[in-house]
Amino acid sequence: MSDSFPTVGIIGAGQLARMSVAPAIDLGINLLLLAQSSNESAAQIANHVVGDYADVDTVLEFAKRCDVVTFEHELIPLSVVKALEAVGVVVRPSSSAFIYSQDKAQMRQRLSNFPSPKSSVVTTALGITEYPLIAKAISGGYDGRGVWKINSEKELSALIAEVGKVLIEELVEFDYEIAVMVARSPHGQASTWAPTQTVQVDGICTMTLTPAPQLDQEMSTKAQKLALDIAQEISLIGVMAVEMFVKDDQLFINELAMRPHNSGHWTIEGSVTSQFEQHLRAVLDLPLGDTSMSAPVAVMGNILGSSKTDMYRPYLHLMARNPGLKFHHYKKDVRPGRKIGHVTLLGNDAVELSHEVQHALDYMSGEIDE
Ligand code: ADP
Repeated sequence: MSDSFPTVGIIGAGQLARMSVAPAIDLGINLLLLAQSSNESAAQIANHVVGDYADVDTVLEFAKRCDVVTFEHELIPLSVVKALEAVGVVVRPSSSAFIYSQDKAQMRQRLSNFPSPKSSVVTTALGITEYPLIAKAISGGYDGRGVWKINSEKELSALIAEVGKVLIEELVEFDYEIAVMVARSPHGQASTWAPTQTVQVDGICTMTLTPAPQLDQEMSTKAQKLALDIAQEISLIGVMAVEMFVKDDQLFINELAMRPHNSGHWTIEGSVTSQFEQHLRAVLDLPLGDTSMSAPVAVMGNILGSSKTDMYRPYLHLMARNPGLKFHHYKKDVRPGRKIGHVTLLGNDAVELSHEVQHALDYMSGEIDE
């Protein structure tokens, strides 16, 4: 049978690829993943090739079987993305946009006309006088790894001695953090979802509240406009998370992630079109879907690995207690602190919903038993 439906190749086979499978099935789109092993979260349930994403020949061979290639993580070397483009592979987002999610220093430079914390790249602490400050690894950080609060010249010198060149940033005393998910297609069609407040504990996002409860209409529009402007400026194709800090009526860009993102997991149940479906539509240059919310409020909580390993049994209690709670389990090995799943609850009241979501998280981690 000849298949008129395209094949989307995703480099990576973690939970983001896993959550892309359901909309791909619904749309009849073929997915092919480049996995590191067949045990990975998405490789357990989808067509995949096992290979090294850093090896040009492996990725070129993989790309031959795909109509378009996209990513679920930022680890693929830019040189590999460029090698694909050089032989005509359609890569979305392209290397010229993707670099800004890989390299924080380039991102800061490129977005210097957008509201951002003051920043510079340094190789010495000499002459740096304002502390505390935030220092960041230029690439490779995630979940707060690669981000340090630095209180003195001595601490900065020690860090530079250990990791080399770092990006230093003004420490923004923000009120809270938000993320705006935005999608853009090659036709230039673009859409955003309602801004999400992200609650972080020790650099890890534990919960998201959408729409961001403390953000008024004017600020919400401003944040969405900012995300759309950045998407246009860098010719984004696909879905992107724009993480921002909110301080009074000011917004500061924190970072960009060019793929579906934890801050957009709520869209699976909470929006007419999920971020995963929208990413597929965008990279295939299909018209984008409606991003309206399907309920007034959506709260998502990340299930982090704990010492408890049986993640199935808690369903019995939690599903009976709250039939509205939606579970997503990624089927990854349980390791303390690792994101292994999430729950989402829709309703009318952010405070009530977050209590209920927190209860589910505490029950799943074994902190409470009723
Ligand atoms: P990651 O790559 O881990 O996502 P981020 O750049 O998002 O790193 O930083 C992680 C966290 O560190 C942010 O969520 C925020 O809480 C804090 N942070 C980062 N940059 C700044 C800054 N300039 N001022 C204050 N806090 C910051």
